Amino acid sequence: MTEHTPPVTQTSNGAGPRRPAAEADVIVVGAGPSGSTTAYYLAQAGLDVLLLEKTRFPREKVCGDGLTPRGVKALVAMGISVSEQDGWVRNKGLRVIGAGKRLELPWPELSSYPGYGLVRPRTDLDQMLARRAEHAGARLLEGVTVTGPVRHERTGRITGVVAKDANGERTYRARVIVAADGNSSRLSVAMGLRKRDDRPLGVAVRTYYQSPRHDDDYLESWLDLWDGDRLLPGYGWIFGMGDGTSNVGLGLLNTSAAFGNTDYHALLRKWLAGMPAEWGFTEENRTQPIRGAALPMGFNRTPHYYQGLLLVGDAGGMVNPFNGEGIAYAMESGEILARTIAQALARARRAETERVLAGYPRALSEAYGGYYSAGRAFVKAIGQPTLMRFATKHAMSRPALMRFALKLLANLTDPRGDVSDRLVNGLSKLAPNPK
Ligand SMILES: Cc1cc2nc3c(=O)[nH]c(=O)nc-3n(C[C@H](O)[C@H](O)[C@H](O)COP(=O)(O)OP(=O)(O)OC[C@H]3O[C@@H](n4cnc5c(N)ncnc54)[C@H](O)[C@@H]3O)c2cc1C
Repeated sequence: MTEHTPPVTQTSNGAGPRRPAAEADVIVVGAGPSGSTTAYYLAQAGLDVLLLEKTRFPREKVCGDGLTPRGVKALVAMGISVSEQDGWVRNKGLRVIGAGKRLELPWPELSSYPGYGLVRPRTDLDQMLARRAEHAGARLLEGVTVTGPVRHERTGRITGVVAKDANGERTYRARVIVAADGNSSRLSVAMGLRKRDDRPLGVAVRTYYQSPRHDDDYLESWLDLWDGDRLLPGYGWIFGMGDGTSNVGLGLLNTSAAFGNTDYHALLRKWLAGMPAEWGFTEENRTQPIRGAALPMGFNRTPHYYQGLLLVGDAGGMVNPFNGEGIAYAMESGEILARTIAQALARARRAETERVLAGYPRALSEAYGGYYSAGRAFVKAIGQPTLMRFATKHAMSRPALMRFALKLLANLTDPRGDVSDRLVNGLSKLAPNPK
């Protein structure tokens, strides 16, 4: 399906030799969960895909390493074995600690999602997904950093990317380009697409400790993060990695006054200082540096299709504003995008291709628009310390309400499920779709 344009040479930066441009049907920039999933489904549809990744696998990614049943479903759909023999650590649900109470909430029993979550270091997970894409036929190039778009002189449409590797600079061309380059998405920025100030953003830090709690079969979430006498909007987590360590971290939302002026490392240390000593969350047991990154939520970069460039995963701000989960949404949006591109490139005329590609933002909006709008209202509400305190106190003493909250916050319902499923689905439908 590759368009046969003559090979083009480009000016090198002087460091390396001139090399002919490489071509493909689709270029995917970034091989995190969104890029690898997009490349996997594109390759499965028979398209020639170049997946360009600046790092080399295995590589670290700052993350909580936790997957809800949504993430499990996305992995299973790609044919990845998620058995414990293959190194996955299963969890039964979420343990919530707050307002002096502790509730164990099993993942809901649904036909749409499995009844368990998983934990896996991103060093493993991302490599696994990238290899899966490669195995399906995508051409994965590691150690290749995309430095900017190549744009059509007259229309400004993106027709390729310039990238550098150990041998110098090179141009890659394709009919369609995907930005899967994460939260900072330099490629989107270079095309003029910046983060939106009116959408939620989180910041989170995490590290690892050697701990007897490493084999916990529940994901644990702490709602009591205090800044003096203010309860902060966010939560701390403790996820057992099953390898002798726990992933421990915390995240805050930009709707709080404390957001811009919080020392996250100090907040983490202060929170952990209140933990029982036998859990081992002390400096001498810390096995990794404390690292942090942003969580772009609720479509905080739009439009998702602009001048030949399609945004997926964190590049398109697709983290769930209710709970900070991003891997499942990165993978799901990757699948939606790949199916759209496969249909678009099969159309005979350019205008038809354009029409199909323009359907991608609409498909995203249908999948998450209402839910993310509700999430924006939620994030705004809990940004007020008194409301956050009220909600935590009252919800924690009502287990039935918390079971409902779990479905809402983790976006886990059946389309025609029980009353609580219908209530969550209704809420998402009622909320206006964001523009
Ligand atoms: C502290 C923290 C904890 C989190 N915990 C969880 C959790 O427990 N569960 C969960 O579901 N989500 C969690 N998230 C969110 C999750 O990490 C992201 O939503 C997810 O990684 C998004 O995937 P992505 O593929 O879109 O982007 P990324 O994972 O960021 O992947 C982007 C890829 O693009 C590559 N790249 C970037 N620029 C270039 C370039 N110029 N050229 C070539 N390649 C490039 C990068 O090297 C990277 O491989 C957490 C986030 C943070 C910050």
